Amino acid sequence: MIKIKKRKILLLPGDGIGPEVIQEVKKVILWLNSNKSLDFEIDQDLAGGCSYDKHGTPITDEVFYKALESEFVMLGAVGGPKWDNLDFSKKPERALLKLRKELKLFANLRPAICFEQLVDASTLKPEIVSGLDIMIVRELTGGIYFGEPRGIKPIENGERKGINTHSYTTSEIVRVAKVAFDLARKRSNKVTSCEKSNVMEAGQLWKEEVQELHDKEFKDVELSHMLADNCAMQLLKNPKQFDVIVTDNLFGDMLSDQASMLTGSLGLLPSASLGAKNKEGEMRAMYEPIHGSAPDIAGKEIANPIASILSFAMALRYSLDLDSEADALEKAVQDVLNEGLRTKDILSEGKKEVSTSAMGDAIISKL
Ligand code: ATP
Ligand code: MG
Repeated sequence: MIKIKKRKILLLPGDGIGPEVIQEVKKVILWLNSNKSLDFEIDQDLAGGCSYDKHGTPITDEVFYKALESEFVMLGAVGGPKWDNLDFSKKPERALLKLRKELKLFANLRPAICFEQLVDASTLKPEIVSGLDIMIVRELTGGIYFGEPRGIKPIENGERKGINTHSYTTSEIVRVAKVAFDLARKRSNKVTSCEKSNVMEAGQLWKEEVQELHDKEFKDVELSHMLADNCAMQLLKNPKQFDVIVTDNLFGDMLSDQASMLTGSLGLLPSASLGAKNKEGEMRAMYEPIHGSAPDIAGKEIANPIASILSFAMALRYSLDLDSEADALEKAVQDVLNEGLRTKDILSEGKKEVSTSAMGDAIISKL
């Protein structure tokens, strides 16, 4: 087992707007180092398409080793049309999947928060989304994305069959449910567990195990079960009924994308992918904005860095237990939005447009 170096951060800016937004995170880290004596050690390297271009692989062993010994990874985004036609094994996204799987980052936390200043950016009515604050916990290393058997096989009559297997073990379910219950205790104390127990055995097991864990260790948390299709509908109808939603890899992928759009702000939302704590209380983790590499706006200095900066705030909170620094950074973001500063993606009438780096500078000035 490779030892984790305290306070060592690996930046993997990646492709497209990744380097532009991670540059702003780097400025925040350097500011914290000089003004709060936080002693972060930063390393930066290639992952994704840029790594393929230089080394012929989306992530080298050397970079992967650096990720293993870092306290956490801050990722920008990977991929873009340039690499769309590569073999599956060489695609930029493989870097992400490898990091998630090999670092055993089984819990993906995706907050969907409606920023008061941007309520009008949502596609839903203000009264439905105003004050919205949901945390979706998606299982990230199991389920149908990884289950065996899988593949495309020839069968009779020249037909082919595509196979994927949806499966979960007790321990896979329990460890992610635990994360959800723990989070709920620090929030509004409510967990909604989503599956399709009406048609899937793995969903039935999911429901039973979450209930059993609740009854044993989290009786104080309000637990409800919801079928994933109903959850998709409820997210549009009455999203404020939710506090923490916990669900599997596939449903989590879809429900979290759906929830993020309730807020109308792809450029604002962060994410965290967390592993298990070891005996020393250390945990591997990766933080990244939920948006992709946005090749259409790369190099134009208009990308919104807030999603990445808020991802770093999640790192302060979950990897480093620096809650007050995380609060301060989140508050700084609110302050600049209150002042009317906007990057192009969230610009509205009467607000002031700023570039990626001007937004980063403004946030730092509020710290
Ligand atoms: P991926 O497949 O990597 O998730 P995607 O196809 O879902 O990518 P994104 O790259 O996430 O797409 O972006 C979709 C669009 O949203 C972009 O084309 C861009 O215009 C806009 N966008 C995404 N992120 C930002 C950002 N940080 N700032 C401004 N606009 C953004
Ligand atoms: Mg996407």
